[in-house]
This record gives sequence, structure tokens and C-alpha cells, in this order.
Amino acid sequence: MPEYICSTCGTEYESSVQPPAACSICQDERQYVPQEGQRWTLMPDLQGRHRNRLTELEAGLVEVVTEPAFAIGQRALLVQTPHGNLLWDCLTMIDLETVTALNGLGGVDVMAISHPHFYGAVASWATALDCPRVLLPAADREHLMHRHPSIVHFDEVEMSPLEGLRLIRVGGHFLGSTVLHWPGGAGGRGVLLSGDSIAVVADRRHVTFLYSYPNRIPLAAADVRMIAQRCRPLAFDRLYSGFSDGLIASGAHAAVLRSAERYVGMLEGNWPRL
Ligand SMILES: [Zn+2]
Ligand SMILES: [Zn+2]
Repeated sequence: MPEYICSTCGTEYESSVQPPAACSICQDERQYVPQEGQRWTLMPDLQGRHRNRLTELEAGLVEVVTEPAFAIGQRALLVQTPHGNLLWDCLTMIDLETVTALNGLGGVDVMAISHPHFYGAVASWATALDCPRVLLPAADREHLMHRHPSIVHFDEVEMSPLEGLRLIRVGGHFLGSTVLHWPGGAGGRGVLLSGDSIAVVADRRHVTFLYSYPNRIPLAAADVRMIAQRCRPLAFDRLYSGFSDGLIASGAHAAVLRSAERYVGMLEGNWPRL
């Protein structure tokens, strides 16, 4: 039986004779069903029309993106450490070329995904990569559309997926939204991988935090304060968010705190306007 994939958000569903009645990720107010209505596709179709490009962004960090872009168009990031490799976030299309390339970089020992919009085809990726552990927060369990034996739901606010890496639940965009702290990144100055939990904006000096990006729904002040509070103790200078242009190359820690302060100030009406 086919495993239907939502063409809008890229979520792969468990096998079924007929396509699901609706995509619950797209029905959620954080996403949307396009004007033309719900459309479904299948992995072989994607494999015929797309390929994944791997690019080294810095020593120990490789970006994986699908070209031409599919669905939400996020990136995945392979973090290579002396203690193993972690794949941060997930895409939908996976093919033999991608598996061969990732295995050539040492394979994937563990996967962690910032939030449900980037779950993509997580089960197909875990199977294809023979990945023994996929860490997803229990708080977002209801948004997982394709179960897999490697998936482990965790309740902790913070955990270590591999020695030297920390996964921190910051909440906000989703209850279980996480960031990954990689202290060894950026030449030892520290890197934060943030998915959509913290998104780099156009000026590349600030970030934002939204409940919905496509529908432009803000977060409450308490959520933004929580994100800032959980990032404050982390030592990082660089931040990579969920898309290829999402980079603050230096000064990212201050940028996150400054942006959170501005955001809360705007919400509460006490931000000085020029
Ligand atoms: Zn969808
Ligand atoms: Zn999202």
C-alpha cells in the first residue's frame, strides 16, 4: 500500500489504500491548505523530479536541501562529531544517492527534529539510513503521522543525544519545539541549530519567533521570554535556522536575546519607536 505524502507540507503518512481524508499538519492553524485544495504525491514521483544537494557549511556541518525545492523547502543539517553524527531536521525526498552520500560522511547515528513541520518523511529516512534513534519530544506526539521503531519520544526539557551535543526544548512555535546546541561548532565558539524555533530574519542581525510563519501569528510574551531564558545559558556565537538563508555568522547569542527583548517590548507597548 502506498505511503501518501502531502504536497504542501511534505509530511509522509502511514500506508493506506486511499489517501488520508485530510492532512492534519496543513489543517492546523500554523499551516494552510492551498487554494487548489489538498494534493498528495508519492516518494517515487519525488525521486523522479528532485535531488538532494549536500554542501559543507563549516567543518563538521553539512547542509542537505532538496532541489528543486519541495513543499516547505527546509534544510536538514548533518552534525559530525568525534562521538558520532546527528542529523538535525528532516526532508521528504530520500533516494539512494542521498543515502550513499550521507553514509560516505559517516552515516547517521541519531536524528533529532526541531518541530513537526520538519518531520517530512522521517520514517523513510530512518529506514533508508538505518538510523537506530530518532529523538522527538513527547509534547508533539500527536503531530507525528508515521510511526517508526527508531522513534523515541522524550519528556525532558534538555537531553544529550550524543556526547558534546545538547537538545533543548524551548517551546513557542510548537509545545515541543527544540534547538540543538553544538558547543564545538564555529571553531569552538559554539553553534545553535534552531529550525523554526528561532528564525533568522532578513537583516541577518535579528531573529524572530512565531506561532505560524505562513499565517504570521505571533507568540505570547511568555513564550518568547521562555525561549530567551532557555538560550541565555548556552554559549554560541553562530546560529543556523531552518532554511538555507538562515544564518547569523557571528554575535548570534546577543542577537537572540536582543530580538526577544524587542519582541516582548513591541507586544507590551513599551518599545521606543523612532
Ligand atoms: Zn500537509
Ligand atoms: Zn514550522
